[in-house]
Amino acid sequence: MRVLISGGAGYIGSHTVVQVVAAGHDVVVVDDFSNAKPTVINRLEALTGTHIPVHAFDLTDRDKTERLFADERFDAVIHFAGLKAVGESVDKPLEYYENNLGSTFSLVRAMRRHGVGKLVFSSSATVYGDHAPVPYREDYEPLAAASPYGRTKVMIEHVLSDVAAADPGLKVALLRYFNPIGAHPSGTIGEDPQGIPNNLVPFIAQVAVGRREKLNVFGDDYPTADGTCERDYIHVEDLAAGHLAALTALEAAPAPVNVWNLGTGTGTSVLEMLHAFERAAGKEIPYEVVGRRAGDLPAYWADPTKAHEELGWRATRTVDDMCADTWRWQQGNPNGYPDA
Ligand code: UDP
Repeated sequence: MRVLISGGAGYIGSHTVVQVVAAGHDVVVVDDFSNAKPTVINRLEALTGTHIPVHAFDLTDRDKTERLFADERFDAVIHFAGLKAVGESVDKPLEYYENNLGSTFSLVRAMRRHGVGKLVFSSSATVYGDHAPVPYREDYEPLAAASPYGRTKVMIEHVLSDVAAADPGLKVALLRYFNPIGAHPSGTIGEDPQGIPNNLVPFIAQVAVGRREKLNVFGDDYPTADGTCERDYIHVEDLAAGHLAALTALEAAPAPVNVWNLGTGTGTSVLEMLHAFERAAGKEIPYEVVGRRAGDLPAYWADPTKAHEELGWRATRTVDDMCADTWRWQQGNPNGYPDA
């Protein structure tokens, strides 16, 4: 297949590019580099041993999107591109709605006009909202989310479901990610947050490498075994493999819309993660328990049964693998990707 990967320069996108190329497909990347460095493409070309064509523009630009589809022939699209910082989305809601919805509208419009029939979309466990029973199952309704970021994911799930229901030529996979961490085992690509990391493991990694003084643990008075929040951390390599499995399965999938959780099915607490990272880095990582972060749920994880049964996919990498690979990437690239 010839696959367009939007946001292919980003964290999950870049790891997926490597696996989609390795599976024998041709990949074209579209990315506006608003939250990624162009040098990631050099790393991807080195890892895959192939030239990766890149189109640098914002998908909300309908004319440019239309031109890309008029010039190239695609069999499928994997759509990662989007704004993704929960806190920022509260301060800039309009930007989040315009960007995340607008890019999806523009992309799907071009796909339909040019007869591209397979779309894999990056959704999130955030669509389960605050009340879903744990473990989260795909058939839970109604979808809800506590932030503008999360609501863009809920809205896009509805939009894509409606469009696919009305168009027999379009099949959609909605992949609900849990907490992706880790890096490619080569240590040459990984997560490169700009500014202060919002997420736990990138923050721990920056403390371990000496860029930050200590981890703030947001609350240890939750109703969990050690009082800190539990999440379903999934290795980005397992997550990327889930995209490939979904892409392959879409061809034969009976339903126009297919929802799959991509998680491990296991919760890990903040302190358990901190200690796993200490083992990987071979050093103590200073931390301080501070107040709770607004909006955090105590504990949740995926029921990954549906993806296993329907895709033959399951996450295989452990928390120790995730920490070892994150640490290799962070040590080799203490300041992330170079500018040029
Ligand atoms: N967390 C923390 N300190 C940090 C960042 C995160 O204690 O600097 C906690 C956070 O409260 C949550 C867990 O780590 O319980 C995972 O947070 P993250 O932002 O990585 O993912 P989320 O589950 O919120 O999407």
